[in-house]
Formats: sequence, C-alpha cells, structure tokens
Amino acid sequence: MSKKKILSLLAVCALTFSLTACGANKTNSGTSGNNSKATSSDATKDTSKTEKPKIGVTIYKFDDNFMSFVRRAIENSAKDKAELILNDSQNSQVTQNEQVDMMISKGAKALAINLVDPQAAPAIISKAQAANIPVIFFNKEPNVEAMKSYDKTWYVGTASAESGIKQGEIVAKSWKEHPEFDKNKDGKIQYVLIKGEPGHPDAEARTKYVVDEIKKQGIEVEQLELQTGMWDTVKGKELMDAWLSKHGDKIEYVIANNDAMALGAIQSLKAAGYFTNDKYMPVVGVDAIPDAIEQIKSGYMLGSVLNDAKSQGTATVQLAINAALGKDVLDGTEWKLDENKAVRVPYVGITKENISVAEEAYK
Ligand code: BGC
Ligand code: CA
Repeated sequence: MSKKKILSLLAVCALTFSLTACGANKTNSGTSGNNSKATSSDATKDTSKTEKPKIGVTIYKFDDNFMSFVRRAIENSAKDKAELILNDSQNSQVTQNEQVDMMISKGAKALAINLVDPQAAPAIISKAQAANIPVIFFNKEPNVEAMKSYDKTWYVGTASAESGIKQGEIVAKSWKEHPEFDKNKDGKIQYVLIKGEPGHPDAEARTKYVVDEIKKQGIEVEQLELQTGMWDTVKGKELMDAWLSKHGDKIEYVIANNDAMALGAIQSLKAAGYFTNDKYMPVVGVDAIPDAIEQIKSGYMLGSVLNDAKSQGTATVQLAINAALGKDVLDGTEWKLDENKAVRVPYVGITKENISVAEEAYK
C-alpha cells in the first residue's frame, strides 16, 4: 500500500471509525510501523469516551408527535453526559437495522432503540450481542422471550394496560356526571375507537382495557366503529370524517389510543359544527401532549392520560449511560426494574381539574 493511501485511510479512520474498527482494518490490510503510533493516540482518546460514552439512539420515526417529546428529553438529559448518535428510522425496520450496524461500527458503547416493528427486537439484540454492547429498548416493548434472550437488554416505557384503565376511568366518570351524553337514552355508550398501530403493545392494551374498565364500572357499551389511525392526526381526522357521515349523531363518545389521533377527530368534529350551540362530543386521548392540553383547557377535549415523555426519555439515557459504563443500570437513579427488566413510568389521568400535572411534565 502506498504511503498516500495509508495516510488517507488513517484520515478516514479518524473521522469515521472507532479504535476497534480501524484496528481491524489495519490488521486486515497488513500494514505496520506508524500504525502502532496512531493506535496509541486513539487509545488516549478512548479514555475520555469512558466518561462521556457514545450512545447509539434510534427513534422509529421523528414524525411522531409523542416521540418528538421523548427525543427532546433524550437530548436534554444526554447533554454533557453522553455523545449521542441520533437516528430517524423513518418508520422502516430495514433502515433501523442498518442504522444499528452503522452505530456499532462508529463505536457506540450502548444502544437505545425505539423499534419500528415491535417484533424486530431479536434482530437488534443479536447485533448488540455480537458487538458485546448493551441495548435499552424504549417505548415499544419487545416480548418477554426477546427480553430474556440477552442479559444486557432492558426496557424503558410504561405498563401499557394502565393507560387504558385510566382512560376508561375518565370515560366512566364523565358518563355518570353527564346524563346528556346518552343522546339516544338507551343507557349504553355508542362509541367509536381510533386505534394506534396494530401489534403495538400500547395500542393493543389501550383498546382492550379502556372498554374493560368502562364495563367494570357497570356501564354498557356498543362499539360503532374500531379502526386504526396509526397514531396519526391526519388519519384520525379522515376516520372521524367518514364515521360522522355514516353515523352522525348516533356517535356518543370518541375514544382514541393517543392524542394525535384525538386531535384529528376534534378537527373533524369542529368542521362538522360540533362544540357550538350545545352540539358536543366527548373525546379522550392518551399522552397529554401540549396540543391536547390546550384542547382540554378550551373544552374541546374531555381528557387524556399523561404519558410522561420527559421521564421516559431521561430514564432511557440514564440506563444507557450506566450500561455503557458497565455500572448497575439503575445506578444514581430512583427507577426500579420489574421482573421483565423494565422501568415502567406511571400514567396519570388528566382532565381540566388537574391539567397542571400534564403541563409540568411537558415543560
Ligand atoms: C404513544 C403514541 C406514540 C407511540 C409511538 C405511544 O406510547 O402514546 O402517541 O405514537 O407510543 O410508539
Ligand atoms: Ca346511548
């Protein structure tokens, strides 16, 4: 190899690869001499990395309302503590897998992964395992088997069912307080439900537990519609448009698996003349993101369930840094792990009365 070529290779290494990746390249190309010098100066750099570890982060898509707040919390809490490699997986698992390879080759000492496909955890775990680095999943929970398959895997999120239960409590309470919600006076709630992404543990659990809770409180229900709005405002609006033209005033309650979709439904309802002259529709969501907080304050949205983005983002970074440094993952934190190696941040039911709780969490 020419001297020029070696020099340019070294420059590329310095820019792109970690110590190990370059070390391997050098061995393969069979060069020697000044390489050992380069290696030792890289090694000095590596000591500083131990203090500020490189963490490879993926978000399933940046274009998700709630995840943008988790991302902000991740960036804020990593400041001065970790060097983040942050990726938008653009809703493609293939892209995310490539990003994981790239982050490992760049020398990430831990991964923090918001899966695109909740079923894809094993693929990510085997990459992490091969590189012998820990992986913290967040927001989309891998199944129990995947979590057990590698001792350096943890999860940060919530207890999904809890959000459905808390949302059901809000629906039941409002129904009991407002007899006028029962437009056809049959004693049953005729509801439409906008579901999140099918197969997403939060979407599945919310859809089930919200209805279970309402029934548990002795209220009969009749489902008029249930379809997925993929967590998305535009899709939420489209569904509501279609359902309003099909069922009109037969709909007595709108239940959405998240606020983004609830906000879409509210747009549709506003356009159809609701929330003026006694025409009203109760709408509930989950997340309590700032846009939803505004709608609750102004009376367009009945309630939501706080999904604490700040705590989840912060906990993800805390665990990832600890894991990268080989410490106990909970070191210096107040979190607890359950039997599935998961940190579960509690949900809080939110209506106008306690709106300040949600405002505080999204500051
Ligand atoms: C949130 C949704 C979000 C989804 C992304 C859920 O926990 O409630 O708003 O779209 O996570 O995975
Ligand atoms: Ca009714």
